[in-house]
Amino acid sequence: MWDFVVVGGGILGMSTAMQLKKAYPDKQMLVLEKENGPAQHQTGHNSGVIHAGVYYTPGSLKARFCLEGNRATRDFCDEHQVPYDICGKLLVATNDLEKQRMQALWERTQANGLEREWLEAQALAEREPNVTGVAGIHVPSSGIVDYAQVARAMADEFQRLGGEISYGHEVVGLEERPAEVVVTSQQDSSEHVVTSRYLVSCSGLMADRVVRLLGKDPGFTICPFRGEYYVLPEHHQRVVNHLIYPIPDPSMPFLGVHLTRMIDGSVTVGPNAVLAFKREGYRKRDISLADMGQMLTHGGILKVLAKNARPGLMELKNSLYKRGYLALVQKYCPSITLDDLQPYPAGVRAQAVSHDGKLVDDFLFVNTRRTLNVGNAPSPAATSALPIGAHIVSQVNRMVEA
Ligand SMILES: Cc1cc2nc3c(=O)[nH]c(=O)nc-3n(C[C@H](O)[C@H](O)[C@H](O)COP(=O)(O)OP(=O)(O)OC[C@H]3O[C@@H](n4cnc5c(N)ncnc54)[C@H](O)[C@@H]3O)c2cc1C
Repeated sequence: MWDFVVVGGGILGMSTAMQLKKAYPDKQMLVLEKENGPAQHQTGHNSGVIHAGVYYTPGSLKARFCLEGNRATRDFCDEHQVPYDICGKLLVATNDLEKQRMQALWERTQANGLEREWLEAQALAEREPNVTGVAGIHVPSSGIVDYAQVARAMADEFQRLGGEISYGHEVVGLEERPAEVVVTSQQDSSEHVVTSRYLVSCSGLMADRVVRLLGKDPGFTICPFRGEYYVLPEHHQRVVNHLIYPIPDPSMPFLGVHLTRMIDGSVTVGPNAVLAFKREGYRKRDISLADMGQMLTHGGILKVLAKNARPGLMELKNSLYKRGYLALVQKYCPSITLDDLQPYPAGVRAQAVSHDGKLVDDFLFVNTRRTLNVGNAPSPAATSALPIGAHIVSQVNRMVEA
């Protein structure tokens, strides 16, 4: 019998497993991951930004964990020799309406306890000669890292402390009994059954399905949104000095393509947010009839799609029509041309949608007597992986002591 089984080998699963093992060094722990290595889904397909915590509702878990996670990620990287760069971020307003919205963001950054600086057009032009804007906010604590590398370092640390990881094992059955959880996993076509005193699920795009395996309605369904990127050619690698973000429409804060310096030296443009027709479908043509059927029969998702039909269709148009995508970035960086937008792998976000039709905003957890399940962990969950793992460990402590 295992003491703890963790489902999912993304950054949240690895962070949780590593911190659980530190908290309970003598306990037997196993991570089950369906792919053949760590970080193959969201953790390995993102912008790699160590967020500072600009946008999040003050007092929310996102605001708190992001702020703590920004510091904790840097400390972890220092300790484990993972390269990162605190290059700072500029939020750029390109017209008067955006400047007004910028004021609201400025106040939010204050409420969230961030160091920042207001730049008028002249100061903005001095910091970023290739960026056009009427004003900007400089947030010095934003940075970049390769989250797949962070997750691998966490996995190594977990194993060094004596934890076990089984890759290629998909959890297909869960039964919670009074004193244990029975976990059935599938590897190729053979089934393996193990028992564990407690189980933690960090299964990303499959979060709702893992809760359902317990026979419980999670109260939400995962809606996958593909984030598509382009990468700029090498001669544009110095086009910006910071991460450049537009000022978002407050009703759609996650929309708006940004220019991101990546830790490997490249610069990406993106991501957009288009409804994906397959949960782990990274290409436009990837379709799963089962995933689509589930989405299109979920009242909550249908409500969200109806409510956001206009921005949703705009995102789809710009996904199919490169000139539309280009216009989004030319708005603040006019020197980029159509030929500069070169192909780059997409990511798929796991966004929980409640049964009554709301995009779940904050991080969300679903607990039973012996299991703890991460339900909603979109961006900035990679930045927040260490505080989220610590939060899970504290909840597990309570379960163990109950
Ligand atoms: C396009 C995009 C850009 C983003 N940019 C940023 C950013 O710049 N900064 C930031 O902080 N965050 C960003 N995020 C968010 C961040 O990547 C995620 O919040 C984070 O990676 C979530 O980690 P996870 O471990 O929960 O999920 P995942 O990395 O998706 O891991 C879940 C794992 O569970 C496994 N799994 C699922 N079901 C089972 C099962 N039944 N059995 C066994 N294993 C299973 C999967 O194979 C997977 O490996 C971005 C996300 C996307 C998609």
